[in-house]
Amino acid sequence: MLLERQGVDITLFDARSRGGGRLCTTDQGDEGGAEWIDGDHVRCLSLLEGLGLSPIPDANEPYLVAYKGERLLSAELWPEALEDAGRVHEEAAALCYDPPPAADATLSSFLDRHCRSERGRWWNEAQWRSDEGEDTNRIGLNGWLAGYRHYLGRPEGTMSAYRFPGANAVTDAMLARLNAKPNLSHSLARVASESGSTLEFASGETSGPYDALVLAIPPPCLGQIAFEPELPPETAAAIRRCPMGRTIKVSFEFAEPFWEDEGWHGHMFTDGPLQQTWNSSIGRRHLLSAYICGNDAESVVRSPDPIAIVRGELLRISARARPVRAVLHDWISDPWSRGAFSYTPVNPVDRSVLAAREGSIHFAGEHTASWMGFVEGALESAERVAAEITRTGPAL
Ligand SMILES: Cc1cc2nc3c(=O)[nH]c(=O)nc-3n(C[C@H](O)[C@H](O)[C@H](O)COP(=O)(O)OP(=O)(O)OC[C@H]3O[C@@H](n4cnc5c(N)ncnc54)[C@H](O)[C@@H]3O)c2cc1C
Repeated sequence: MLLERQGVDITLFDARSRGGGRLCTTDQGDEGGAEWIDGDHVRCLSLLEGLGLSPIPDANEPYLVAYKGERLLSAELWPEALEDAGRVHEEAAALCYDPPPAADATLSSFLDRHCRSERGRWWNEAQWRSDEGEDTNRIGLNGWLAGYRHYLGRPEGTMSAYRFPGANAVTDAMLARLNAKPNLSHSLARVASESGSTLEFASGETSGPYDALVLAIPPPCLGQIAFEPELPPETAAAIRRCPMGRTIKVSFEFAEPFWEDEGWHGHMFTDGPLQQTWNSSIGRRHLLSAYICGNDAESVVRSPDPIAIVRGELLRISARARPVRAVLHDWISDPWSRGAFSYTPVNPVDRSVLAAREGSIHFAGEHTASWMGFVEGALESAERVAAEITRTGPAL
């Protein structure tokens, strides 16, 4: 959209048979992707406004906590867990602008150091595992602290303040405004860049040459594409070393929002493999989404009947949790993302090279942005790339 607004002729390709990538709402089809908009994700909010769409405001409270047989609502959360969360925040805020800690330090060891109670440690794991989409022992402390800067000085209630409107309204509205219609089911396999970039797809079809090429492709998929000439070794290494969180999402539909009668809003944390549910209700459809990350996600999807496991877990939380429909999307093996969203591992390579232009090839996507892992990051990268092409790129 940004490029078309500046008079650039564009051609769009996507490997999927639908538009929108990882932004797909749980009320549509079998996939559930990005759902939440933080109150300070200004690009997302202004995109919606420009499209004439409204974000769905959300409260997320009161939430339910089910831990070791205990069941409590947010107002009853253990004081020691809140103290531990407060200490983690203070220590992270103090470290954010200090010289970086050892490159092999993990978020998990940081939480171990600053949590003093067992419940507090679990509570902090639950919060940060969900934000990163991965167990905290895989998250590099350096990268996490860089992202944490975004959270400093945020008013309370900023996180997950809104939801994207349902029925994939954002993608549909964006596609309706574009002159270029996407060429779907086109999986890019090879890029030959001599004068401009020529594309070759898995089907053998070719297209181009194009003056400029924007690759907004998740790193594990980008790593499968052949480049001629090859990408510089530091770029190839950064793509290889940019992992994606192991996350699966299960959406449940219920005849009634039973959680309301039980005094919680649909948001729930549990120490079982279900990990967490969110209220994803849209209009009159009563939906909960379970968001399962890390080792638990892998063991659920590898089991012979993943849906039976999550249904059983739901029943452990409430005898009334009997969904009329349950769908699971395994983002870990989704061929067009190979994971949920990017995170910084221990001993990371220099991530800034992921965003560095290579001749006529421009790299976009959440993994190239400071708001890494969020739709906000994808939009941030779009602004950068549009500016690269229209201000400094070849004459178009
Ligand atoms: C379960 C889940 C929950 C999330 N929750 C949130 C949330 O609540 N809030 C939030 O802000 N973000 C969330 N995210 C992250 C958010 O979805 C992403 O950060 C964002 O959508 C990424 O946009 P992108 O354009 O970088 O990548 P994508 O949306 O993945 O787009 C990349 C496109 O590249 C295509 N592609 C891949 N390989 C090829 C190829 N070889 N040839 C051609 N095309 C190819 C894919 O089909 C895809 O359409 C979530 C993600 C997941 C998976």
